[in-house]
Amino acid sequence: MANYGRIHSLESFGTVDGPGIRFVVFMQGCPLRCQYCHNPDTWDVNKGKEYTPQELMNEIIKYKPYIDYSKGGVTFTGGEPLLQADFLLEVSKLCKEKGISVAIDTSGFIFNEKVKELLEYTDLVLLDIKNYDPLVYKIVTGVSLSPTLKFLDYLKEKNIATWVRYVVVPNLTDNLDAVKKLSDHLDGYPNVEKIELLAFHKMGEYKWKELGLEYKLTDTKEPSKELMKQIAEILSANGKTVTSNK
Ligand code: SF4
Repeated sequence: MANYGRIHSLESFGTVDGPGIRFVVFMQGCPLRCQYCHNPDTWDVNKGKEYTPQELMNEIIKYKPYIDYSKGGVTFTGGEPLLQADFLLEVSKLCKEKGISVAIDTSGFIFNEKVKELLEYTDLVLLDIKNYDPLVYKIVTGVSLSPTLKFLDYLKEKNIATWVRYVVVPNLTDNLDAVKKLSDHLDGYPNVEKIELLAFHKMGEYKWKELGLEYKLTDTKEPSKELMKQIAEILSANGKTVTSNK
């Protein structure tokens, strides 16, 4: 039986999801319901367009010169790409045959034998940790934090390069005590090469409206530079490199 993936969209010149120029694949389907999600149109596993691994590879390969020149690669994001680990495993094997680096942007919520196999072909994981306080995590995402932390343990065990991503949302993820605890927790993970702070924005709000969903953050402002700096300082206190997009 052919192995199909359901894909929301493709971006051929991504520059914010891993090093160099990235061919970014937005996978369809996500079990989380993050309040600040700017891609709620990726949630439904039945939407998107079907591709075989080879069909997707045919798209990726067109951009190999740019990927090579910039030391970039392919990034699978979404949605939650690990929902379709079978498909990603096949595509990642094809990428490896062509010497193309593979990154996966994930919440770390899905973990099974297929995911473990996929990680053998993964050069970099962009792990979104949406909060370190389990109660706040549940409020932000609708699911529990513990699978993500177990996933991080596995990445450490396998020594897979990891960049942790943290979205700063005023009055939601700016609980500084939990940020400090996250900083201390990550100190025990030498595979975490970098922490990326991302400022909350409302560019996806219109999609919630189009889908008839209630957007809870209408009145929330973007974080100030001062708040971003304050959180960056806490996260870098143990010596980790922290970058911020604001
Ligand atoms: S994990 Fe990503 S795609 Fe899924 S709801 Fe959260 S922000 Fe949206």
